[in-house]
Amino acid sequence: MSLLTLLVLESRFEPGANMTKSRSTSALDADELALMHAIRHSPRSRAELAEMMGWSRNTVVAKLAGLIEAGWVTEFSELQAGRGRPFARYAVNPAAATTFIAGFDVESVTAAICQIDGTILAWERQQLPAVSGPDAAVMTLDDMLKRMTGKAGIPRQQIEAMVVAANGPVSDMRVTVPWSKVGVLPSDFSAHFGMKVAVENDANIVALGVQRENPQASSVLALLVETGIGAGIVFSGQLNRGFSGWAGEVGHIPVAAAGDTPCVCGNRGCVASIASNPALIRSISTKDRPLKTVDDLRGAVISGDTDAIMALRQAGRHIGEAITGLVIGLAPDIISVGGSFAKIGDHLIAGIRESLSQRTPPAISSHLRILGMQDHNRSGIRGASEIAFDLLFPR
Ligand SMILES: [Zn+2]
Repeated sequence: MSLLTLLVLESRFEPGANMTKSRSTSALDADELALMHAIRHSPRSRAELAEMMGWSRNTVVAKLAGLIEAGWVTEFSELQAGRGRPFARYAVNPAAATTFIAGFDVESVTAAICQIDGTILAWERQQLPAVSGPDAAVMTLDDMLKRMTGKAGIPRQQIEAMVVAANGPVSDMRVTVPWSKVGVLPSDFSAHFGMKVAVENDANIVALGVQRENPQASSVLALLVETGIGAGIVFSGQLNRGFSGWAGEVGHIPVAAAGDTPCVCGNRGCVASIASNPALIRSISTKDRPLKTVDDLRGAVISGDTDAIMALRQAGRHIGEAITGLVIGLAPDIISVGGSFAKIGDHLIAGIRESLSQRTPPAISSHLRILGMQDHNRSGIRGASEIAFDLLFPR
């Protein structure tokens, strides 16, 4: 399942506001950037901003006026109980910037044009070309961007930042990851498209989105169980990429049940070889009941097929076993599980929960919340919009 596939169901297809901004983000000074960050997640009053920034009320008013005039900030009035007149609050103008967010999976690429708050203006999915690699990835997105801006009537120059989700470790070195067909660096895109670009691992982007959805949780583990098994780790509020972007490649943790099955990563006995979607499909497919695709397996689970349900639960147990050390090491507040099977019943998650409750100290397991993501695409858009904000408003 690609990052954005399901979003069409809940997106709002409204044309982007016709913004005429008098200044680009690169013209904002350090104080203005700090103000944008102070209101990025919740609107603030002048008094709150004066206290947060350590500025006088007059300075806050002057800086806000400049940002409002430039189109970056909106002002709105709010009535408060016990106060006679409405008072003003300030928020990031959601239509101030338009972003292009694209996600690559094994077979396809899905892209969305969004406002800076993640509201979707247009989206499209297409098969990956037969040729893979950096040039093919850039040209595929170029085609999609042309077509989508044309259809939606959004001037291409209105799009100021691009976030690309890749299904493998992402680093600043050009490393060919065997299971990812993307193999691009941000500079490949930024040189071609002339805008700010970030390339990030898909599970990392989802983890950022989950943390945004659960602001009280400082550490989050987001698991995506699909063709492979990836995790994004937000630790103490910060995304942890590890060496060469390899942090969270939990599908390549060995478990005893996988024996010495060779894996694409070069190691043997990785949990992905027995608990990823293709492994699950293989394990319960029989001559009498051949299963070929994820949809076949989903159909079997939904129809109550005991073998399919047991296999899903067992896969969850293996995943739980594999991530036990990581969970004890990080003591996250939330493990959020996404993927094709996270939203059809609790079977996969029940297996993960069972394994972790047996293997982790009660102090950790009693605090830990293990949740199924109803829509990891939605979390992905939220996470990508956070990255786009940081690109546009660097601190
Ligand atoms: Zn492996």
